[in-house]
Amino acid sequence: MSGLAINDITKNFGDFAAVDNVNLSVPHGTFVCLLGPSGCGKTTLLRMIAGLEEPTGGAIILDGENITSLPTHKRNLGMVFQSLALFPHLSVGDNIAYALRIRGRAKEEQRKRVEELLALIHLPGFADRPVAKLSGGQRQRVAIARALALSPKLFLLDEPLSALDAKLREDMQVELRQLQQRLGITTIVVTHDQREAMTMADLVVVMGKGKILQAAPPIEIYRKPADAFVADFIGITNLLPIEADSAGRATVLGTAVPGLALPAGMNKASLSIRPEDVSITAPRDGALTGTVSFVRDLGGTIETFVDVGGTTIIAVATPRERPNVSVGQSVGVVLPPESCVVLKQ
Ligand code: ATP
Repeated sequence: MSGLAINDITKNFGDFAAVDNVNLSVPHGTFVCLLGPSGCGKTTLLRMIAGLEEPTGGAIILDGENITSLPTHKRNLGMVFQSLALFPHLSVGDNIAYALRIRGRAKEEQRKRVEELLALIHLPGFADRPVAKLSGGQRQRVAIARALALSPKLFLLDEPLSALDAKLREDMQVELRQLQQRLGITTIVVTHDQREAMTMADLVVVMGKGKILQAAPPIEIYRKPADAFVADFIGITNLLPIEADSAGRATVLGTAVPGLALPAGMNKASLSIRPEDVSITAPRDGALTGTVSFVRDLGGTIETFVDVGGTTIIAVATPRERPNVSVGQSVGVVLPPESCVVLKQ
């Protein structure tokens, strides 16, 4: 297969498995985001792909070649780390040309490649600028260009945007994704920011405790999370207990909800429903009834918090479909069965 295959990769530190028997297949040209809470093994997995950490077991195959034991410099990779590690005393051009220079490439070839890469990152004419005089976003782009100088097969980035402020970070997410699409380069980014992953990735890999919990396109993870942990980690969701009553009907927070069913053999599970799928209605028309406890009007969206027997359910609406309710009011909560996902706990 053209692309990257990670086969049964494990990394133990003493008797602790930081990465536990991970398998992943990444077709050529895919943008992958490794996503998960702190300590779940994302960086360790990336470092093994980079050759910076030796796996305890398993194999890493790049375009059909087993690279598990190859040193980093023979893997044909470009890497960007959170710290960027630009050379502060060198110009932008000399930073970008660094890998070409140490490989003894001709001056003219270096100059041409620097020009090409500066055009690619939208900084034409910046070759002679000292890196110390760049803004945060410009430095980020130079670090990306430097990593791409040798036209690597695989582009690896570890939390590359985390030092940027929120607005610039969002702009850079779009820019990085567009650049990756233009180049068609297989790319793996470590992030703990689910919004960042959903913006950039073809394939989101959610990790927890050294294992892959789900690997799928972002919208599939959002709509069909594999379990309650993934549902809660990706976006905002209402996670509600769902149980079978003595007659076998599915109940949510103690009330039977028509149209819902538990999978065969399960009499307790979690129900995930996204806030944008919940609507507020008159008490008699809802599957559940509760009391409005808070309304957050963010301009573009309105969040209504409803207390149902001590559990808060959040409904999100646009200004056009805004429910006309106020705090303390009794309301009905509509849970459309087609938007409910029943998950093992
Ligand atoms: P973060 O988002 O905080 O960077 P992560 O998901 O990238 O977290 P890793 O850095 O891969 O997590 O670490 C996974 C686990 O392995 C953590 O519990 C960490 O403490 C442990 N670990 C990582 N490197 C080492 C090491 N060299 N020696 C011992 N334990 C390590």
